[in-house]
Amino acid sequence: MNRIITAKFGGTSLADASQIRKAAAIIKSNPERRYVVASAPGKRFSDDMKITDMLYTCHKESIEGKDFSETLKKITERYAGIIRELGIDFDIDSEMNAIAENLKNGTSADYPASRGEYINSKIIAKFLGWEFVDASEIIFFTDNGTLNEAKTFSTAEERLLALEYAVIPGFYGSLPDGSIKTFSRGGSDVTGSIIARSVNADLYENWTDVSGMLSADPRIVKSPKTIENITYTELRELSYMGASVLHEDAVFPVRKAGIPINIRNTNSPDDNGTMIAASLPKDIKRRAVTGIAGRKGFTSIRVEKSMMNGETGFGAKLLYIFADNGVPFEHCPTGIDTISVIVNTAMFESKREIILRLIKNDLNPDYITIEKNLSAIAVVGEGMVSTKGTAAKLFRALADAGVNVRMIDQGSDELNIIVGVDDDDYEKSICALYDAMIKE
Ligand code: ASP
Repeated sequence: MNRIITAKFGGTSLADASQIRKAAAIIKSNPERRYVVASAPGKRFSDDMKITDMLYTCHKESIEGKDFSETLKKITERYAGIIRELGIDFDIDSEMNAIAENLKNGTSADYPASRGEYINSKIIAKFLGWEFVDASEIIFFTDNGTLNEAKTFSTAEERLLALEYAVIPGFYGSLPDGSIKTFSRGGSDVTGSIIARSVNADLYENWTDVSGMLSADPRIVKSPKTIENITYTELRELSYMGASVLHEDAVFPVRKAGIPINIRNTNSPDDNGTMIAASLPKDIKRRAVTGIAGRKGFTSIRVEKSMMNGETGFGAKLLYIFADNGVPFEHCPTGIDTISVIVNTAMFESKREIILRLIKNDLNPDYITIEKNLSAIAVVGEGMVSTKGTAAKLFRALADAGVNVRMIDQGSDELNIIVGVDDDDYEKSICALYDAMIKE
């Protein structure tokens, strides 16, 4: 049986006619690339505006009773330029008139926002000579806004497999009443994953403007290595801690079906990029650490009480106080007579008074110590389980850099070690950890 690839192209990959030509060359270079998911045109240069942002602006102007025609005109001009340069025949005015009409009739923001991908995908389909399939006809949400997986997967499968090639707009689907609903920002990644899953693709390619995921934040570490292979689980850990390469929800549909994701660079198509799969290939050199990511802005609330460990339910009661006040906890390191709850500082500050009052009243602790300005850094790698000395190396690197470690947490699957350091030591720690664990 022939292989099927679903290829999603992001906004910068389709930002103008020359980028669309590059994407088209990539698409046409492999007949296995049968289903293309397109974003709206993104930024062409750093202070350019994304079409999606301009569409949101139109909507905002319309609900504020302002004239949105200037903004709409700029969008029309941008598309008109693309159409002209691609040399295709496309009636952009009637598409834009439909948007204007809906805005006048008080549409919700989702409809105009979705038109960025809708129009771009129609243009690309025309340029490729492929079929266009509207996402609203194959991606369905339930009334409460969650994806109706069963209906989506079966409808998309049936509709798409009947076609040899198709272009599908990213970012949106339809609600039971037929109206448009978008995913959250960057959601074309999710569409790509859903389409890959529906057609049971062999591979989900995600074409963007970087040659894969980096093993550390390039704003902190100079030229960090690209991660060639990463597991879905490692990716989740690193994304949660701030490394961004894919929309958070894009992993789930393909992961369930075991379809690998390949992050590729439209501007450098010969690079292999990053392959994301259920497990690492057998033949790759074992490495303990895949990547490092972190976030600033945590607070630790340390509760101390003698003989705490003999008091059943102490930890549960403490965590309930946070949960009841809508403050999720990130980590919860415990000692014999102490338990710390690490939370997002901004969230905690909004409920600080009540949380502290409840801890005092309900748990009667000896001390409560609050430490702000904490950063959490995750050192992530599936190989950590089988590599002796990883932790020793990690703490040695931090000690040598003069960093005081304020919290340590190791996930139970030994996939990550999380250290808490002062916000002021954050950058220094990331660099020291990168040099010791990845660079060498
Ligand atoms: N165009 C949408 C956005 O800017 C969705 C996407 O590009 O993935 O968020």
